Amino acid sequence: MPDEPVSQKPAGAADKPFDAVVVGGGPSGLTAALYLSRARRSVVVVERNMAGGQMALTDLIENYPGFPDGIGGFELSDRLKAQAAKFGAEVREITDVSALQYGDGLHALVTDQGTIHARAVLLAPGRHPRSLGVPGEAEFFGRGVSSCGTCDGPLYRGRTVAVVGGGDTAVEEGMFLTKFADAVHVLHRREELRCTPIAQERAFGNSKMTWVWNARVQRILGDTKVQGIEYEDVCSGEVATLPVDGVFIFVGQVPNTAFLQGTVEMDGEGYIVTDEQLHTSRAGVFASGDARANPLKQIAFAVGEGALAAVQMDRYLDTL
Ligand code: NAP
Repeated sequence: MPDEPVSQKPAGAADKPFDAVVVGGGPSGLTAALYLSRARRSVVVVERNMAGGQMALTDLIENYPGFPDGIGGFELSDRLKAQAAKFGAEVREITDVSALQYGDGLHALVTDQGTIHARAVLLAPGRHPRSLGVPGEAEFFGRGVSSCGTCDGPLYRGRTVAVVGGGDTAVEEGMFLTKFADAVHVLHRREELRCTPIAQERAFGNSKMTWVWNARVQRILGDTKVQGIEYEDVCSGEVATLPVDGVFIFVGQVPNTAFLQGTVEMDGEGYIVTDEQLHTSRAGVFASGDARANPLKQIAFAVGEGALAAVQMDRYLDTL
């Protein structure tokens, strides 16, 4: 893929460039920053919202090694950020990244807080929740429709909610919601869950959870706030309505790679393609974590990829 030159000298060009800029402060990006800063490379991590990414919004992580009783996602994020910062990594909060450009031997990451220049780049932007695309979803988002149980669950104490989806996120978040809600109805489009067996065992044993199988959600109902969810039974064709106070949608994830269109090679779903050493199609640009086209979306895997990416970037920087 040809490198497009930076057309204008961007703001901040006079600043000393970093050795590395890391896009995304989730587990992969923060691990890479830790390794790079320990290799005495100057590194800046840009993060939308808060450090930790989606991990920070997870109530309890039980499958990250070293924590037999589990660890809160926010706490693990905070620890990782502090560990990277301890060795010199800078974490910058931004609102948006709009482009990655190249010129004069430097990469230029264009953000709403100015342009950052670096000799190497790690793309670890993670993913965001996919929307269902039904009427009522966008209208009631933040007024009864949510994609984060940890953030909004406490608002539903003593209420009834619906969860849409059948993967690990839907089932784990559904169980978390039973801490607050009196009833959690899980609507899934098939009659078999996709999540891990251990999550299924726990969820089926949770008396606050009920299961609506073969349910295709058609719309979310309400006036000023959510009052119900309408779905079709895909086997019988019957349409039914469940009265609920909230709808939590967990139907998968979409990579945060729109800003990379035309910059690095991506697959048909927008995941970044790399070789085994995590090089993308553009020299000096690496990728790791959930937005990479990889077979496993797990924190432990993202951490491992972050470490590998950092080692590869360090070697690349040595060659310049
Ligand atoms: P996911 O595994 O892709 O599951 C998405 C679920 O939503 C599936 O059950 C899918 O149904 C359903 N779905 C997708 N599109 C839909 C639509 N348009 N309408 C209705 N339902 C729809 O996504 P995820 O649960 O967010 O998990 C993402 C990744 O993170 C997975 O690899 C998961 O294992 C991992 N994860 C791991 C943990 C953990 O290790 N503790 C926790 C959370 C997530 P079908 O099953 O019919 O396709």
